[in-house]
Amino acid sequence: MPRPLTAIIHLDALRHNLARARACAPRSKVWAVVKADAYGHGLERAMRAFADADGLALIEFDKAQRLRALGWTKPILLLEGIFDAADLALAAELGLNIAVHTEEQIALIAQARLAGPVDVHLKMNTGMNRLGFTPAAFGAAHARLRALPQVGEIALMTHFANADELGHPRLPVREQMAHFAAGAGAIAGPRSVCNSGGVLQHEQLASLLDGDWVRPGIMLYGGTPGGRSAAEFGLLPAMTLASAIIGIQHIVAGDTVGYGSRFVAEGPMTIGVVACGYADGYPRHAPHGTPVLVDGVATGLVGRVSMDMLAVDLSAIAGARVGSRVVLWGDGLPIDTVAEAAGTIGYELMCALAARVRMVEADLHTHG
Ligand SMILES: *Cc1c(COP(=O)(O)O)cnc(C)c1O
Repeated sequence: MPRPLTAIIHLDALRHNLARARACAPRSKVWAVVKADAYGHGLERAMRAFADADGLALIEFDKAQRLRALGWTKPILLLEGIFDAADLALAAELGLNIAVHTEEQIALIAQARLAGPVDVHLKMNTGMNRLGFTPAAFGAAHARLRALPQVGEIALMTHFANADELGHPRLPVREQMAHFAAGAGAIAGPRSVCNSGGVLQHEQLASLLDGDWVRPGIMLYGGTPGGRSAAEFGLLPAMTLASAIIGIQHIVAGDTVGYGSRFVAEGPMTIGVVACGYADGYPRHAPHGTPVLVDGVATGLVGRVSMDMLAVDLSAIAGARVGSRVVLWGDGLPIDTVAEAAGTIGYELMCALAARVRMVEADLHTHG
């Protein structure tokens, strides 16, 4: 029998969340973002679940090749673009759309002899100060690309720092959009601006955010980009990390649990040991009390998370036994709730799921 720790991927939830993204931005085409192995959910499986997307967007060149090999014929966007001339040649061969955000990348394109023209997402830095040309430099970069026979369609792209918080005090979406409008001027071409946060604000800000493409990531996996909870946004969890109790200890006042003996019992307790640890991707820094479900009942972590195991409090869960089902996050326990307790975000937990965790597929509404 395999170790009971399993990541259950809910394809029905992936499809539902993609439909939510479409409903939020009904006039835009959707790049389903599948970087980082589809946020830990598995690239091939995400490709199947997102068959209705207009394109898939990711960072990893080899994974873009893999998508083509698996038969994905619709557009693919490389969100950080190419890193050298060999990438560029292959991108042209595979028909990949590439983000262009530096003079160096433009120079690579200008010097290349390609199988055919590449489509480009030209990126503007509208205040996040990560990738892209400043609004002042954008027009010249565009003109330079436009003059190159190696370049096909040019889309205009930017990325939001705070799409989850409309009234952000430092860099609200409205301010980034003002920079974007200033830099783009009258340049023709499709617009691509919204991540999940932007997609979920689309209803309020449609006139401002309406673009030809949107680029949702986290919302497709049932996580929230911030602001409200995933459930309030109508999203379903796409991953349930489930395991089982594999040992039980009955302790009394003064007994300790786990490495460092940091937890000291104040009275009699029943401790359940769960097959899941930080080598599985569960955050080691999750503190005592981080929520966990045992047989569907909410309880919390006890003591430190170790490499292969963690401990939970079973004192109030009558009937809990070796073999009882444990949900670490997902169905019934939002990943964002666990992430918040551990001082991180759902994105990080999904992406950090370790390769040794067995992955299976089951629809959200049918699995036990
Ligand atoms: C990752 C990424 C996205 C998706 O962001 P989410 O917050 O997960 O929706 C969109 N655009 C770019 C450029 C990205 O790198």
